[in-house]
Amino acid sequence: AITETGWNFDNSYARLPKSVFTRQDPTPVRSPKLIILNDPLATSLGLNVEALQSNDGVAVLAGNQIPEGALPLAQAYAGHQFGHFTLLGDGRALLLGEQITPPGERFDIQLKGSGRTPYSRRGDGRAALGPMLREYIISEAMHALGIATTRSLAVVTSGETVIRETGQPGAILTRVAASHLRVGTFQYVSNWGTAQDLQALADYTLQRHFPEVDADENRYLFLLQEVIKRQAGLIAKWQLVGFIHGVMNTDNMALSGETIDYGPCAFMDAYDPATVFSSIDMHGRYAYGNQPPIAAWNLARFAETLLPLLHEGEEQAVELAEDAISDFTELYHRNWLAGMRGKLGIFNEEQEDESLIEGLLNMMQKYSADYTNTFRALTFDKPEDTVLFGATEFAQWHELWQARLARQQEPKASSHQLMRVSNPALIPRNHRVEDALEAAVKQGDYSVMERLLDVLSSPYEHSPEQADYSTLPALSTSPYRTFCGT
Ligand code: AMP
Ligand code: MG
Ligand code: MG
Repeated sequence: AITETGWNFDNSYARLPKSVFTRQDPTPVRSPKLIILNDPLATSLGLNVEALQSNDGVAVLAGNQIPEGALPLAQAYAGHQFGHFTLLGDGRALLLGEQITPPGERFDIQLKGSGRTPYSRRGDGRAALGPMLREYIISEAMHALGIATTRSLAVVTSGETVIRETGQPGAILTRVAASHLRVGTFQYVSNWGTAQDLQALADYTLQRHFPEVDADENRYLFLLQEVIKRQAGLIAKWQLVGFIHGVMNTDNMALSGETIDYGPCAFMDAYDPATVFSSIDMHGRYAYGNQPPIAAWNLARFAETLLPLLHEGEEQAVELAEDAISDFTELYHRNWLAGMRGKLGIFNEEQEDESLIEGLLNMMQKYSADYTNTFRALTFDKPEDTVLFGATEFAQWHELWQARLARQQEPKASSHQLMRVSNPALIPRNHRVEDALEAAVKQGDYSVMERLLDVLSSPYEHSPEQADYSTLPALSTSPYRTFCGT
């Protein structure tokens, strides 16, 4: 039955083997207050914005009321965290159910910060307002950039204090996802489930994300290959916009190909493959330049879980898995190269394109050029007054680039148009995000965040209004640092 608000739940995950989840209701909070609601997303989910804003609507977003048809549960999963295998699971999140939209799509509706679960370990099951608003801002910015991601439907405050380093206002984020199936979900079942559990999970994942699978092919090899394809596309997009996820543990890699877990992520300013923001990433395991090989490593962990399903013979299974994994690097590289050609206005393919691209990136690194602003300046052929643009070697590179553009059939105007849609004018600059969060959390002033969300919603527009948001932060002696979901 569809509720007045438009909730229309199915609970296919709850029909999976019992070992992969635990039924758990959210823990009610003292006084829920709606801070932000994603109207367009709500509407696309078939939800009524006014009803969501009402007391009853907000009570659902806070976990104080369970809508008809929902069947809250915590998902079990495991994962390699910084390379170390551990048992995890939803420690502070609950799946309410899967919203079936008017056109019949299926989206997980998850409350994050909704109280303790059997997987909470020593955690309090809660979330603080700042990090939840941060996830809202960055995930919605990613979506606007055209990058597959979980979405943010709403943030409500709980009226309770959560204790972190200091007392913080508690909050609950409603996360919307194609699913929350992770590499770590398979690792969990592979280690602690039965062979039937594993097959049921694989069949479920196929049905949910890859229903086009052919009846007479190796279904599980297809699953592996398709997950690899989606990740190759996703990671290339991250690299192309300078997004650093920050905590690419196997539990934070979604099989749907969506970006998930906005804890310590941040966008790179000056181009440097070694860029790391996360305070706990001591050795740069998840540095910008390491993201592609780390994705391959995670996918290898996924492939391992599928071995018993890939082939009866172990040797053959391993061979199939290895072949699939080795395809990742090639697929990723192809996606990246195509994206980079777009960023430089190049339509066709020439052998030397890669060295042209590398030439630019090397100079950007050498002169600490801002990644986003450099490509934007090239798009408008308005090299600003930067060290990079003043360098003689840049002038030489620029000539090579112009000659390259002249060798293709498309006119200059088409190149310019291609560059406009390939180079965002705007990314969520770290200092802008921090300003928005500070005003929100410390002063209860949400207007800074709302303006930021507004400009981030059309990052390719290149409007004068955005100019203000693309300036770099004042030089600071201490580097920008991010923290895992607090
Ligand atoms: P993450 O680093 O966000 O991927 O989280 C790793 C694990 O820690 C997951 O199992 C989370 O559910 C759990 N976790 C994070 N914060 C809390 C919290 N405040 N209470 C309980 N569990 C948590
Ligand atoms: Mg996580
Ligand atoms: Mg997290």
